[in-house]
Amino acid sequence: MANILIYALHYDGAINKNSLGAVSEGARLASQLGGEAHAILVGENVPHELAASLGEYGAKKVWVASGPDGLAQPAVDAMAKAITDGDYSYALFGGGLLGFEIGAGLAARAGAGVAMEVTGVRAEDGQLVAERPILGDSAISEIRFRSPVGIIIGRLNAFEITKDGAGAAEVSELAYEPSPQAAQATMVKRGEQRGADVDIEGADILVAGGRGLGNAEGFELCEQLAAAFGGNTAVAATRAVVDAGWYPYAAQIGQTGKTVAPKLYLAAGSSGAIQHKVGMQASENIIAINKDANAPIFEFSDLGVVGDLNKILPKLTEAVKAKKGA
Ligand SMILES: Cc1cc2nc3c(=O)[nH]c(=O)nc-3n(C[C@H](O)[C@H](O)[C@H](O)COP(=O)(O)OP(=O)(O)OC[C@H]3O[C@@H](n4cnc5c(N)ncnc54)[C@H](O)[C@@H]3O)c2cc1C
Repeated sequence: MANILIYALHYDGAINKNSLGAVSEGARLASQLGGEAHAILVGENVPHELAASLGEYGAKKVWVASGPDGLAQPAVDAMAKAITDGDYSYALFGGGLLGFEIGAGLAARAGAGVAMEVTGVRAEDGQLVAERPILGDSAISEIRFRSPVGIIIGRLNAFEITKDGAGAAEVSELAYEPSPQAAQATMVKRGEQRGADVDIEGADILVAGGRGLGNAEGFELCEQLAAAFGGNTAVAATRAVVDAGWYPYAAQIGQTGKTVAPKLYLAAGSSGAIQHKVGMQASENIIAINKDANAPIFEFSDLGVVGDLNKILPKLTEAVKAKKGA
């Protein structure tokens, strides 16, 4: 029997999606180990109804610890206390910058083994085995823990959100002593990153642009096609173009960006580098437009169009509009 403690980040009155995936994954794994999934929320005046709602994702119990919102050190202190007092064999994080910071701090505090950038976890012989891509995602390493507590930090959005829980979770306040260094940082301002409103993870259709678009203005072709599709469609990008400042970082797909699985992923002018592929290969249908017939992206596309995107995208946009009767 092994219980799992899951860190859940919340802001603006909601639990972030990445954390909901971690709670769902933790609940699935805990049931396979014959244990329970417990979540922990750290913040100022965390509403108990919000905490209880994690029961829908499989958490049996949710700890609420009082401390400054969105800072790593108080969360490390609170989780270390919960682990010292409780019976936890694993701590699980959904990933993201804060998850990495808290997980690493907790590992140091607890003398625990840590697996980062994990894309899958399974239960085997009563233990968890974390799977972590290595060597530019060309191989998977399997990590087992020798320490009494194992810390598993997922890749951003690696864990699927499932609402299999029985209802409201039991909520308990967790009293803990903040360490002296917890007072060394304060949250000065929380702001929106430019382009942060791009919801590429939730989109059904993604029109993704790469360096083949030529320049920032080239993205208008992708935006026009996305507008023609309408509905839940968004524009995404490769790292080459976000690094070049052609499109916001929030839209980047791949190893160092976001992982997506839309119904349709239309890639225009991207070569299909392995670091890009790992973020979009789970898409249901992949269509690629590239002028180079030997581009790697054609190796994992359902439909490949060899040609100049400057000619194809406008025609496709017109065709979609005509089909929709616009
Ligand atoms: C550690 C590490 C992490 C990385 N993480 C990521 C990541 O998260 N996401 C990511 O995307 N990349 C990532 N990269 C970068 C990655 O290796 C590639 O460099 C990048 O994905 C290439 O972007 P691209 O396909 O837009 O550009 P390119 O590789 O330059 O491809 C451009 C393509 O456009 C085609 N093209 C050009 N003109 C036209 C035209 N007129 N019509 C049609 N096609 C045209 C070309 O034939 C070419 O295939 C990472 C790299 C490293 C080392």
